[in-house]
Amino acid sequence: MIGGLALLVAAVGAATAGQAITAGQDATPTSSAQHGSYVASMSSAPLEGRDATTVSRSAVRPMLAQKHTAKRSAATTAAQQLAAERNDKLGDAAAEAENYAKELSSNEWVFPTTGFHISTWFGEAGPYWASGYHTGIDFATAYGTPTVSVTNATVVQTGWDGPYGNQVRLRLENGDEVWYNHLSSIDVLTGQQVVKGQQVGRVGETGNAYGAHLHFEYRLASDLHNGIDPRPYFLEHGLGL
Ligand SMILES: [Zn+2]
Repeated sequence: MIGGLALLVAAVGAATAGQAITAGQDATPTSSAQHGSYVASMSSAPLEGRDATTVSRSAVRPMLAQKHTAKRSAATTAAQQLAAERNDKLGDAAAEAENYAKELSSNEWVFPTTGFHISTWFGEAGPYWASGYHTGIDFATAYGTPTVSVTNATVVQTGWDGPYGNQVRLRLENGDEVWYNHLSSIDVLTGQQVVKGQQVGRVGETGNAYGAHLHFEYRLASDLHNGIDPRPYFLEHGLGL
């Protein structure tokens, strides 16, 4: 052993200025170099593998990139279309809201119901009416058809009113009243504000009524006890009857 060590030291010493410590240091770079080359050779395989992967990826990448680009541009186009549609819709909604606001503030009325024909005009004489003549206009339509406020108004009375059956009384902005009679349902409460076209109830035949119809009355603020002919008021507010 001693001889071997001395030989090793001598041999190394000859090569590296004879310092034993240097021999140890030399040994480390050597083994490190070997280790390094081992690592290099070991890692060269995976590196080649990586290179191969990289190559194949780099071949695939342009396709993927194209796909991504295509997808992205399709998504962008779709988003732009959506945005455009949304803007259109917003524009439409804004226009609708503006029209609605105009319509609400306008002097025009809307008919109190739909799908109707006038079955009895104001003033027609007949034995059915306490006053001896008809005190409103009858809008005959299907039972249950919604009936709406002709204009913006306040609900001043709701409930049963003898021969009128289920009734809703609306006060207009000028203080006059319109009365909706023979309703099958009442859909508003006394004191409620309603806007033009808002449903107040449904057509029926409650009270002194034969066949489903809305008996519509107009009463002046100055004489709420007597119904007057509603027809001129429809005409005045843009609706021919
Ligand atoms: Zn009537």
